[in-house]
Amino acid sequence: MKIEDLIRSDRLLIPVTHLEALNETVKRVSKIEAAYGKDLTVSSGYRSKSDHERIYKRINDRRLASGKEALRVPWGSKHLSGEAVDCLDAKQELQKFILENVHLLEEHGLWCEDFKYTSAPVAWVHFQTVAPKSGNRFFKP
Ligand SMILES: [Zn+2]
Repeated sequence: MKIEDLIRSDRLLIPVTHLEALNETVKRVSKIEAAYGKDLTVSSGYRSKSDHERIYKRINDRRLASGKEALRVPWGSKHLSGEAVDCLDAKQELQKFILENVHLLEEHGLWCEDFKYTSAPVAWVHFQTVAPKSGNRFFKP
């Protein structure tokens, strides 16, 4: 995994603190990638505020069209500060590997959203380098 995999916006517009956070995220998640033994595919990395708004608008348009309630835009998301990355996991093999190797998350300072919330429509794994408020290794987004 390279920092470029996490950045879709213009790098010059990213605050230095966020770039530093992105480097740290790449460093830690690369340890998981090495232990897993397969390249990870980033599905979402760093997000600008407008990327984030666009993503949630798309989600909510779909929810509203199917009669569901709109979600609140989570402005506390670690994707906005470079402290989180989502990796595609269509076959849920990475989720399985993580559950069998939780010690790797502990060793490298990573937390994941509970897989119950990251399995549809196509599964992914959300890693972040800061503990959630609950302190739980797997947390409710
Ligand atoms: Zn995420």
